[in-house]
Amino acid sequence: MNIKSYFLWGVGIFVILSVGGYIATRFMVALYSVFEDWQSRRDDEQLRAESESRREMLRKQNEERLDTGCDHFFDDAYGAFPPDVCCRCGLEQQKPLGGCDHQWQKIDGPLPGSHCVKCGKLHGGAKSSGPSP
Ligand SMILES: [Zn+2]
Ligand SMILES: [Zn+2]
Repeated sequence: MNIKSYFLWGVGIFVILSVGGYIATRFMVALYSVFEDWQSRRDDEQLRAESESRREMLRKQNEERLDTGCDHFFDDAYGAFPPDVCCRCGLEQQKPLGGCDHQWQKIDGPLPGSHCVKCGKLHGGAKSSGPSP
């Protein structure tokens, strides 16, 4: 072997190593992105399942909450109640956000209005005629 063939061997090994390294890197990157994809999809599914079960739980809680023996009627034609409030018992169709699970009661007045018997919140015409908090 002369110096020239050593040089050629060197170049050949270098090329093989760099191509091999490149391919290995690409392979790892591809593998990692597949793994990442799978992981994020799994996280998504977990999240979806969690939010679904939470929604289901809330729905059940709400059903129990509305199970008062009242034949709820959520279509208030007079506007005395806030939207989605049963005009027979005054409960809201969904538990309202915040501390008070309002129970609306109609107030007699020149304009249709109502107030919450628990926290005193006013709605509708009561605002202008009744005492404001
Ligand atoms: Zn009702
Ligand atoms: Zn209230």
